[in-house]
Amino acid sequence: MINKLIRKIFGIGTKKSPSADKPATLNSAQHGIDPRLVSNSAIRVVRILQNAGYEAYIVGGAVRDLLLGVKPKDFDVATNATPEQVKRLFRRAFLIGRRFQIVHVLLGQDLIEVTTFRGASTKPALKDEAGRLLRDNNFGSQAEDASRRDFTINAMYYNPANQLLLDYHGGMDDLRRKTLRIIGNPEQRYREDPVRMLRIVRFAAKLGFSIDAATLAPIASLAPLINNVPSARLFDEMLKLLMSGHAMSCLKELRARGLHKGLLPLLDVALEQPQAAHFIEIALNKTDLRIRDDKRISPGFLFASLLWTQVEERWAHYRANGEYPIPALVAAANDILDAQTEKLAIQRRIASDMKDIWLMQPRLERRTGKSPYRLLENDRFRAAYDFLLIRCESGELAPEIGQWWTRFIDATGEERQRMIDEQTRSLAETPSGHKRHRRSRRRRKTSSVSTISQAENTQP
Ligand code: ATP
Ligand code: MG
Repeated sequence: MINKLIRKIFGIGTKKSPSADKPATLNSAQHGIDPRLVSNSAIRVVRILQNAGYEAYIVGGAVRDLLLGVKPKDFDVATNATPEQVKRLFRRAFLIGRRFQIVHVLLGQDLIEVTTFRGASTKPALKDEAGRLLRDNNFGSQAEDASRRDFTINAMYYNPANQLLLDYHGGMDDLRRKTLRIIGNPEQRYREDPVRMLRIVRFAAKLGFSIDAATLAPIASLAPLINNVPSARLFDEMLKLLMSGHAMSCLKELRARGLHKGLLPLLDVALEQPQAAHFIEIALNKTDLRIRDDKRISPGFLFASLLWTQVEERWAHYRANGEYPIPALVAAANDILDAQTEKLAIQRRIASDMKDIWLMQPRLERRTGKSPYRLLENDRFRAAYDFLLIRCESGELAPEIGQWWTRFIDATGEERQRMIDEQTRSLAETPSGHKRHRRSRRRRKTSSVSTISQAENTQP
């Protein structure tokens, strides 16, 4: 009560001595968390830590989601045990991370991230010249830990043993107001870790929350700090944005805040072009639907979609310079991946998935000989086929091609052969493909790639 009053008088986020912080304590009737939504593995981890004499709580995004009545996708646990002490209590526990050392505890199929309460630094923290924290491994009290978290709604602690919720920064009120508010001085917190600017965009889009004015204000001028963040971390965050189930609204929000520039430099260009933006919108909307249906999403597919129009342009460029279609496409794919990797380190495995999806496109368009059978057996067939369907839906390719494959997948052996024969005949009847060439060019308007690959189809 007193705490609430103090918060009201001084305003949330004003600098207070964290050790003096007393949290508001809410019982289950007040917070309304449904214990059935809490993972058994998380409960076990908390219990094992508490039985060993430590404090332990479920924390962060899981508590936020529980309060919103959503089943959390992962659970984080915070404790006053050091990482080494945590590790000793579990058979399958691994110390990871440098900037933040955390313990991954594996229980059955579940992975629970256990972090030790972080404290205010006694020594000056190691920062880069822009103020970004490079090391952050000072342990502290729970109140200090709460102050080091990013947003008020992410700084609540839930003890499944007694079902009490501890709220240090008015997170519950902000949750009710559907407001995202950074803890502490906004500018300083973004300088310490510019990724917080991306996180707030993701949460705003995903939760449908608005951003408090003081929290929002510095982002416009601090957006370029994103460029200082290591590219691997940016990639992780970008993936989270795209896989949030609200990818398109995240991208729109990123653009609105001027945060997209350092992330996907080529995407920046793409979104300015109506054809590319249309393609991306279709791909991302499909991704969102899959995520909401709990279906698997391949990061390679996502990034392949985002950068496809650039690949197409580059492909056309190499072809215009006399390169054969397939080597031209390989060169185009490499160019785009290289240009992208400078800013955003796309992992090699994902880059290889992207390339496979791109390189299978002309092969999917050619539907003659043994090729369709071989494609069906390819590990990446499903992704490449889904990708082809998006090309059809966006108007880039004739819808018949997608429909052909949809039929081919379910057809019997005999029907399949008939379809291939028909395709071979119809290509032979089109003298050197000129008719098709003109037709597809009219349909497509902007991109020249399909025209190229159709022309390629007509070659024996
Ligand atoms: P989600 O799991 O849905 O992405 P989350 O809030 O759980 O959301 P995590 O990355 O799992 O995000 O982080 C767990 C918690 O750690 C956050 O809720 C927040 O309290 C804290 N946290 C994460 N990243 C930061 C950061 N960059 N700065 C400060 N605190 C952070
Ligand atoms: Mg989380």
